[in-house]
Amino acid sequence: MLTLPASVVFRRLLGLSMGIGLGAAVAPGALGQDMGRARTTITTLAAPKMHGRGYVKKGEKKAADYIQSRFKELGLRSFAPGYAQPFPITVNTFPGRCALLVDGRQLEPGADFILEPASGGGRITGPITVLDTLIFTDEAAGQRFLVRPLQNQVLLLRQRDADRIRTLPDAFAQHLNQAAAVLTLVPDKLTASVTDQQLRQPRLQVLARSWPSKSQQATVQVDAVLATNYPARNIIGYVPGRIQPDSFLVVSAHYDHLGRMGKSVYFPGANDNASGTALLLELAAHYAKPENQPAHSVVFMAFGAEEAGLLGSSYFVQHPLFPLARIRFLINLDLEGTGQDGVTVVNGRTLEKPFKLLEEINAQRHLLASIVPRGRAANSDHYPFSEQGVPSFFIYTRGGSKAYHDVYDRPENLPLTAFSGVFQLVTTYFQLISGSKQ
Ligand SMILES: [Zn+2]
Repeated sequence: MLTLPASVVFRRLLGLSMGIGLGAAVAPGALGQDMGRARTTITTLAAPKMHGRGYVKKGEKKAADYIQSRFKELGLRSFAPGYAQPFPITVNTFPGRCALLVDGRQLEPGADFILEPASGGGRITGPITVLDTLIFTDEAAGQRFLVRPLQNQVLLLRQRDADRIRTLPDAFAQHLNQAAAVLTLVPDKLTASVTDQQLRQPRLQVLARSWPSKSQQATVQVDAVLATNYPARNIIGYVPGRIQPDSFLVVSAHYDHLGRMGKSVYFPGANDNASGTALLLELAAHYAKPENQPAHSVVFMAFGAEEAGLLGSSYFVQHPLFPLARIRFLINLDLEGTGQDGVTVVNGRTLEKPFKLLEEINAQRHLLASIVPRGRAANSDHYPFSEQGVPSFFIYTRGGSKAYHDVYDRPENLPLTAFSGVFQLVTTYFQLISGSKQ
C-alpha cells in the first residue's frame, strides 16, 4: 500500500536522488506479484521430485526445464535456443548408500549426520579413535599422532580441532588422510555444501548431541561419485526495452541447490533459493505484461551451480551473451523467504548513491522493516559481476527461519514476510534508474 500518491513519491525521489526531469514519470502499470503463484513456485522447486536441484537424478535439469517452461509461458525473449546457456562442471555427488552405525545403532542421515562435500566413498567397520587435542599444544603428542597407524580406524574429531588441523604442518592433514573414515562432531547444526573435490575416504559431519558417548565402533557406508563434465546450465530470458533495448537491467537468482545425499535424503532449498527464483519469475511476469514494458531491456538470469562455487554466474561473466558494459544495474535475489527483520544489501556500502535511493524508496513506501547495507561479499551470484565492474546489489531477507543448507529448509518454514516488499523495491528502483540519463 502506498501511503502517499505515487506521483508525489516519485517526484520527490526523482528530484532528491537522481536529479532527473519529470519527463521520466513512472507509468502506474499493473503492480504486484501473485503470492499464491509464488508459493506454488517455491513448493514445486522444493518438492522431492526436483531432488534438491542438484546432480543426482538430474534434479537441476528438472528445475531448469521448469523455469524454461515458465519463461516460455510468459513469452520472454531468448538469447539462445531454449533460454539455455550450458556449461560443464565437475561435482562430487552421493547417489547411493549413506549410512552411519555407531555400536550397532543407526544414525539418521540429514538429522544426525551429513556427508562433507568432498567425502569419498567406502564401506568400513572399524574402531573409533578420538583425536588427541594435545597434538595442537604438545610437540611430543604431535609426533606420536604422526606415527600412529590410522588405517582401518574411524577417526573422530571436534569441529574446532578440524579447523585447527589446517594451522598445523601439512603432514598432519596428510596423516589424517590415512584414516578409513573421518567423523567431525559439530556443536550447533549440520551445514551441507557442494564441491568439485573428492577425498579418498568417507567424511561425515555428526551433530554432537546425536553422538552416543563412550562409543567403540562405527560402520560407515557411503557411495560417492565425482561427476566430471556434468552439463549444468543457466536459463536466461529477457523483455526488450521500449526505448533502449541495448541497455540492460538484470534480475538474477540461482535455482540450483545441494541435491541428494543418498537414497532417502534430499535438500529442499526452499529459502535457498526457490524463494529468489520465485521472486525472479514474479518480476518476469510483471515486466512481460505489455503495459509494464520497461524503457531498458530487463534480463532474467536463473543461474545454475551457484552452490558449487558461483559457477553459472562466473561462466556467464566469462561468456557473456551481450557486453557486460551494457548492464546498467544487476540485482541478485537469494534467500528471499523471510524478512521479519528486513533485508541486507550486499554492496550497499560500496555503491552509496544507489543504496541511498533504495533507502529513500523504502522511507516513502514503507516496504521493508529495514534495509541494512553491507560491503563486498563473495556469497552469491552478484559477485562475479561486481568484480567485473558491473554495478550490482545482492538483496537477502533477514529474520525468521534459521534453516540453512540443511534438510529443514522447507517451504512451510517460510513466512515470505518481505517478498512483496522486495518486489516493489526492485520494480520501483528499476523505474527510477531507467528514467535517468545515460
Ligand atoms: Zn546456498
